[in-house]
Amino acid sequence: MDFTLPEELEAVRDSVRRFVHEVWEPVAAGYEESGAFPRAEIRRMGEAGFFGAAFPEELGGSAMGFLAVSVIAEELSCAAPELGYCMNLQAMTCPFTIFNWGEDRQIRAFVPDLIAGRRIGMFALTEPGGGSDPRTSIRTTARRAGDLYRLDGAKMFITFAHAADVGVLLARVPDAPGHGITAFIVEPRRHPGFRADGIRMSGLSWALRANAVFLEDFPVPVEHRLGEEGEGLKIALNALEYGRLTVSARLVGLARACTERAVAYAREREVGGRAIGRHQMVQERIADAVVAADAARLMAYRVGWAMDRGLPANRIAARAKYFATTAAKTAAAALFEVHGGYALADEYPVRKLRAYVDMLTVGEGTENVQRILIAEDALGFRDADRHPSRNRLRRPAGD
Ligand SMILES: Cc1cc2nc3c(=O)[nH]c(=O)nc-3n(C[C@H](O)[C@H](O)[C@H](O)COP(=O)(O)OP(=O)(O)OC[C@H]3O[C@@H](n4cnc5c(N)ncnc54)[C@H](O)[C@@H]3O)c2cc1C
Repeated sequence: MDFTLPEELEAVRDSVRRFVHEVWEPVAAGYEESGAFPRAEIRRMGEAGFFGAAFPEELGGSAMGFLAVSVIAEELSCAAPELGYCMNLQAMTCPFTIFNWGEDRQIRAFVPDLIAGRRIGMFALTEPGGGSDPRTSIRTTARRAGDLYRLDGAKMFITFAHAADVGVLLARVPDAPGHGITAFIVEPRRHPGFRADGIRMSGLSWALRANAVFLEDFPVPVEHRLGEEGEGLKIALNALEYGRLTVSARLVGLARACTERAVAYAREREVGGRAIGRHQMVQERIADAVVAADAARLMAYRVGWAMDRGLPANRIAARAKYFATTAAKTAAAALFEVHGGYALADEYPVRKLRAYVDMLTVGEGTENVQRILIAEDALGFRDADRHPSRNRLRRPAGD
């Protein structure tokens, strides 16, 4: 008997795997070649309910909860890492931030379409001046002019910006309280002054890409401000906490994908008349990968479990993300080693899996950013859960 998930989560896991096999795999190479954005398939994922687990039924969600988000993100990333981005932009960082911080009219205007896959989301925090410390690096300005804000500046590495209909974007309002950082709901395809230039990244998808974004006199109606002026940093940090749930799970999915492929290859590849998996040094790699993937998975589940109870989760989300990075790297190294020279051949997905591990190592806070958060908390310098955690799906009892 092993630790098991509830039956309905196992069923969701199966449906994700089936979707990738039956719907995505036949068309994936075509999208990669053309660079077109797979809107139809993302819509089908929305219709299948993959994005709605953290949202109430009246918005079109399933309210299955955050553990379900984790399970879906893990499975998607394991089977097709490029689709894993959707779990942030259609299911969590973009729509959940609007749901968690928005007014009712904003929630109703944007969330149902995002989680149904009818509109494409983005989350634009990072700037060319650095992603690790948004408090100091955000230079994009939002100047109030009557009923509009006018945005000028640049964002860097913004996933799906080339296709996004809706986004959460952070900019600085001059003279606003605190650091002036303010969150906005933006509609890039509706207004002029928004340009997205794709960034080519070795091993990563071109169809589902990250972009450099340029904003020039880009208008945002005042009613699309999310929260108050100066509240943006709090909103962004809260968004990253939930983003770390999906990113941890996506890393676990990658760790599993690498481990499963390493095991299969080490069993089948024979050198000198012996399967290479019979060699102790190969076994050491396999053992490290198997155990790391397992442990990372339990840590990711714990984050979902805590969020499902409305408990503060910043500390455990940072730890889960950090450890999942280590696990995925360990598994990717095992995969690379057992494949020998074939690891470099495009015919095998070894370099692709490694590229996604690298990407997620950086996204939602680099390793150093997690180390700082985790160590300062452990040392008692700065409590990682010092800010009340906002969670509108699961308010803690009595809240
Ligand atoms: C493919 C891809 C997709 C992305 N998608 C998005 C997206 O959709 N939206 C978004 O907003 N961002 C996105 N990002 C950006 C990502 O979150 C940033 O790359 C990340 O936060 C790091 O920022 P940076 O690259 O500017 O590195 P920097 O902040 O310049 O850091 C460089 C290095 O210095 C280290 N460092 C920095 N400060 C310290 C310190 N105080 N102590 C010790 N070490 C430090 C960092 O750990 C890092 O190793 C994406 C990135 C990639 C690669």
